[in-house]
Amino acid sequence: MKQVQDYIRTIVDFPHEGIMFRDVTTLFADPRGFRMAIDQVLHPYAGIDIDKVAGLEARGFIIGGAIAHQLSVGFVPVRKKGKLPGRTISQEYKLEYGEAIVEIHEDAIKPGEKVLLVDDLLATGGTAEAGIKLIERLGGEVVSTAFIIDLPDLGGRRRLEALGKEVLALCS
Ligand code: IMP
Repeated sequence: MKQVQDYIRTIVDFPHEGIMFRDVTTLFADPRGFRMAIDQVLHPYAGIDIDKVAGLEARGFIIGGAIAHQLSVGFVPVRKKGKLPGRTISQEYKLEYGEAIVEIHEDAIKPGEKVLLVDDLLATGGTAEAGIKLIERLGGEVVSTAFIIDLPDLGGRRRLEALGKEVLALCS
């Protein structure tokens, strides 16, 4: 039987020369692949107290929406700067070249809420760390982080675990 990683393709030289881009759109487009991935992400969280799922733009919205629906909890988007319509708080983080900013609505998470943070792929962990900081600045508790793909050579797991966060990934 096909496994989750069998549905993911690699696009060479995207978005720049030398980058091997992991493309999960082929996983999302396949009914068995998509269900398998969502079911496998959900599995370890059975019986775990989660109040909200937060997803990182943009593919984290697709996974996070499906997971939040299955858990019957709300979904919160963490977006790139300037996209959210309400009052926000911002968090800057470093990219390979330059910096980026992510934002969250300031009323999206209530103090004490337990949050599961999700995205398609964990590389350096910079984006996820910025998301964690936003959630924690609102008083939320990031109980776990979940990804379809972890690229272990880029150190994201170590970085998030150093913050005391659990990291779940389906494949590498
Ligand atoms: P990080 O901040 O270095 O961990 O990069 C992770 C972020 O970049 C996530 O939001 C991913 O969606 C995106 N990303 C980086 N490389 C890839 C890739 O090969 N495929 C899909 N997304 C990627």
